[in-house]
Amino acid sequence: MINKPEKIIVHHSAFLQDREQLAQINQWHKEREFPQSRSGYYVGYHYLISRGGIVTRTKDDDEEGAHTRGENFSSLGVCMEGHFNQQTPTAIQEQILGKLLVELCEVHRLPYIAIYPHRRFSNTACYGNKLNANYAVIVCLKEKISQLTAELHKMLAL
Ligand SMILES: [Zn+2]
Repeated sequence: MINKPEKIIVHHSAFLQDREQLAQINQWHKEREFPQSRSGYYVGYHYLISRGGIVTRTKDDDEEGAHTRGENFSSLGVCMEGHFNQQTPTAIQEQILGKLLVELCEVHRLPYIAIYPHRRFSNTACYGNKLNANYAVIVCLKEKISQLTAELHKMLAL
């Protein structure tokens, strides 16, 4: 079955470790028997953003997710590494999240209000209780405003 993204669901990895978590998360999700993606990952999310701001696309956007029960054929899963009950995203991680969300909303023609924390759909604290319900939407809007401001400055400089 094909995934048709109508929303973006943002997660945290709930794992405190500053170095890249991709290999560890891949191993955990393999042990939980999550399906392997076309690109060879078992990671249940579509995108993973490290503490250092590195984005890994672990599934194509049209592949079934394994991150939010009931939403895995109608959403994109974006996971930020870290445990946001205990820490907050790094500045670079937040900036990269904003860029990724703006891009995904444009590619899939999604409104910014279609960005949700995992806990909106499941009995979980995910993306962590240090981040409020609108955190990801606001990060996305701030990035869009900064892109528009840069464009405006370019126009005005002509
Ligand atoms: Zn989650």
